[in-house]
Amino acid sequence: MEFIADFPDDAACLEWLWRTRYAVDGEHAECPKCEQVRVFKKYAMSNRNTSWTCTGCGQHVSPTAGTIFHKSSTSLHLWFYAMYLMVSTRCGISAKQLERELGVTYKTAWRMFHLIRNELMTQDDDSLSGEVEMDETYVGGKPRGREVRTMSQTGLGPMQAGQAAGRKKKTTVFGMVERGGKVAAHVVPQKWQGDAFRHVETRVLPATTVFTDEAPAYNKLGAAGYEHKRIHHAEKIYVRGNVHTNTIEGFWSLVKRGIGGTHHAVSAKYLQGYLNEYVWRYNRRNDRRAMFWQLLVRAAQTTS
Ligand SMILES: [Zn+2]
Repeated sequence: MEFIADFPDDAACLEWLWRTRYAVDGEHAECPKCEQVRVFKKYAMSNRNTSWTCTGCGQHVSPTAGTIFHKSSTSLHLWFYAMYLMVSTRCGISAKQLERELGVTYKTAWRMFHLIRNELMTQDDDSLSGEVEMDETYVGGKPRGREVRTMSQTGLGPMQAGQAAGRKKKTTVFGMVERGGKVAAHVVPQKWQGDAFRHVETRVLPATTVFTDEAPAYNKLGAAGYEHKRIHHAEKIYVRGNVHTNTIEGFWSLVKRGIGGTHHAVSAKYLQGYLNEYVWRYNRRNDRRAMFWQLLVRAAQTTS
């Protein structure tokens, strides 16, 4: 397996961090105390506490300081392997699978995922332009019968009562995707228009052609200077020439297939992490081999 060839053990992972963060040649690094480049020697303690020591002043430098690995009781090797597994499949893996693969507890596996998703896979703010599709979707649990009945007492028909009750239990997500380019997806409040619009203004360049469905929430886009084209789903029209939202809907179904089966009620707080992970893979879909290295490089940057 290629992972094992690159990272056979804990020491190899530590050495990689040391060279990536401090010493390209493994020996010469800028000493924070001497404030100049010095020769460092590896100072092996029990593996977790191994650091490198300045031969000029005796200052210790830990390769993990400021990273999500620092002071973790999980070995660096397992961390690296967990990251490798997360980017090696199209849909990622579950904490349950990670528990089995790594032999760590479910709680540990879950915590590793949580940190990787929320600290390393954060979404960037690259501009979207050209043709950009936008859509909102609802992720999460199914309503109970009682909840549907409560909604139908407000005068809604059975179908609408079911949908309305469902939305109450679900988390709203807003997404944008540049055709052939990057996607962005964010948890937004139930009254989502304001937040969604802020995401649009932050990411989508002026004069971009944007595609949405007929929801009134999107009415402002034209006035905001976008070339706005709409598809009328209510009339069962899904594609008219290049007017469609199939790209973002494809992304939604990828996300929902991945998390829908196992997580019936992902809270808004945790859902953002899952979205980050799916967005992260989608945005690097053309270079699967580079994904792992990009994630590692991100991990080598200070997060705290
Ligand atoms: Zn020094």
